Amino acid sequence: MPPTIKNAREIQKMREAGAVVALIHQRIAMAIAPGVTTMDLDTIARDTLADVGAISSFLGYHGFPGHICASVNEEIVHGIPGRRVLRDGDIIAVDVGAILDGWHGDSAWTYPVGQISDDAKRLLDDTERSLEIAIAHAKSGARLGEVGHAVEVFAKARDYGVIRDYGGHGIGRTMHEEPHVPNHGDPNRGMILRTGLTLAIEPMLTLGTEETRTLADNWTVVTTDGSWSSHFEHTVAITPEGGEILTKRLPVPV
Ligand code: MG
Ligand code: MG
Repeated sequence: MPPTIKNAREIQKMREAGAVVALIHQRIAMAIAPGVTTMDLDTIARDTLADVGAISSFLGYHGFPGHICASVNEEIVHGIPGRRVLRDGDIIAVDVGAILDGWHGDSAWTYPVGQISDDAKRLLDDTERSLEIAIAHAKSGARLGEVGHAVEVFAKARDYGVIRDYGGHGIGRTMHEEPHVPNHGDPNRGMILRTGLTLAIEPMLTLGTEETRTLADNWTVVTTDGSWSSHFEHTVAITPEGGEILTKRLPVPV
């Protein structure tokens, strides 16, 4: 799918799809605790989608068996929800994609389980920060390369691995449109961003390597050295001021 420019009405539809994604994240965030399984989180997503009349972007996508992706610790992306029990000190990247009235929203967040180590906390905080920086660079008139470059410069200065094998994407009536949105690159390259372009921006940083491999389940992507990985993603609409977040998080009551 080539890049598509959305009009105001279409952006509004994507805000509504994004709100579904945010609602699922809110309910999952409230449930995450030691002893919970990744399938429990998938069930929350399934039920929330049914509540609001939306469907998962991921279920059945090239045969993917879950409503969400749930990637724990050294798993980077595309973890399959199942019987794995979350333990105190784990981190879990939850990727949620929803289709409402034919429009997609896509957002990933990495959550702490109970008490996590200082290193893990730093990784989560800095990956979230790298996403914020990328979104600030995603303004009309900028080159796409500026977005990934901003992530790379920030992450490298703090010694993180920056995953290159996976990245963000255009999004709209299909989950994956052009352009591919890498988390590295040359600020003078790539397409010129235009108002109304909608992108999923999704840095993945690790405490070690940048190398990945896929497990025998043919989905789960892990770091080759077992180092922990963190993934934060928002769907945004390009504006002159930067990306407008369409999957804005909802507050999580404590
Ligand atoms: Mg995603
Ligand atoms: Mg995505």
